[in-house]
Amino acid sequence: MTGDPPSRPLPRTPRTQLHRMRERAGRDRADLDAVLAAGFVCHLGVVVDGAPRVLPTLYGTDGDTLYLHGSVAARSLAESPGATVCVTVTHVDGLVLARSVFEHSVNYRSAMVYGVPRTVTDPEEKLAGLRCLTEQAAPGQWDYARRPSRKELAATSLLALALDEASVKIRTGPPDDGDGPDAALGLWAGVLPLHTSWGAPQPDPLLPPDLPPPPHIGDRAAPGPVTPR
Ligand SMILES: Cc1cc2nc3c(=O)[nH]c(=O)nc-3n(C[C@H](O)[C@H](O)[C@H](O)COP(=O)(O)OP(=O)(O)OC[C@H]3O[C@@H](n4cnc5c(N)ncnc54)[C@H](O)[C@@H]3O)c2cc1C
Repeated sequence: MTGDPPSRPLPRTPRTQLHRMRERAGRDRADLDAVLAAGFVCHLGVVVDGAPRVLPTLYGTDGDTLYLHGSVAARSLAESPGATVCVTVTHVDGLVLARSVFEHSVNYRSAMVYGVPRTVTDPEEKLAGLRCLTEQAAPGQWDYARRPSRKELAATSLLALALDEASVKIRTGPPDDGDGPDAALGLWAGVLPLHTSWGAPQPDPLLPPDLPPPPHIGDRAAPGPVTPR
């Protein structure tokens, strides 16, 4: 049988229920998966010594688990297991330029994941989680680069966060004041799209000159030159 995968509603909890702009909620697990699959940098919010700390960091996902890693010396990772954290992922798709400053906005896709992470100690899961993280950022790189040694693994902390409690919010489309009184101002309004693209690989100057990037790196650059405006 073919067709779309079956709908899997995101569980709604008091924390994940949107209060403002509820119509912008992504309500299906596929919405969450799409936001997470489109990025590799998240922000980990954790309370350290009674104060919030928000850490930009890499992530990877595997099924129902989001993995985060870092040095065993990193306080934010060390404090996270046993405490509730919030991980956010944000993609900005454009600036929404309205007639009034008040109605200016952003087109975006964002996700917030709540939970109590666990430290991964099982060696097989640790390797699999690190593979996820590597492949999320650079597909093909896990098989290309040297894998972590035992010493490197011991110096790396890996956290696993279940994707059980999450919210998604998505804004698309033009400004909201096109049919209001400010439309009579005669001002331009609309969306300035924002695109992120990979550039041509820049070889390490210490490489021998005849070593090209592997296809999984070289092929990621956007085709053709980007003309600045
Ligand atoms: C790039 C970007 C820029 C933004 N700029 C602004 C701004 O300048 N001013 C502003 O007021 N808002 C902005 N927002 C929207 C902002 O993230 C909040 O959604 C909004 O401020 C409502 O906050 P709240 O606490 O009232 O949400 P509530 O609706 O009370 O939040 C309830 C729950 O909904 C979920 N939720 C709320 N917002 C999001 C989200 N963005 N993504 C995923 N889940 C969410 C969370 O689980 C949260 O606990 C921006 C969003 C993005 C992605």
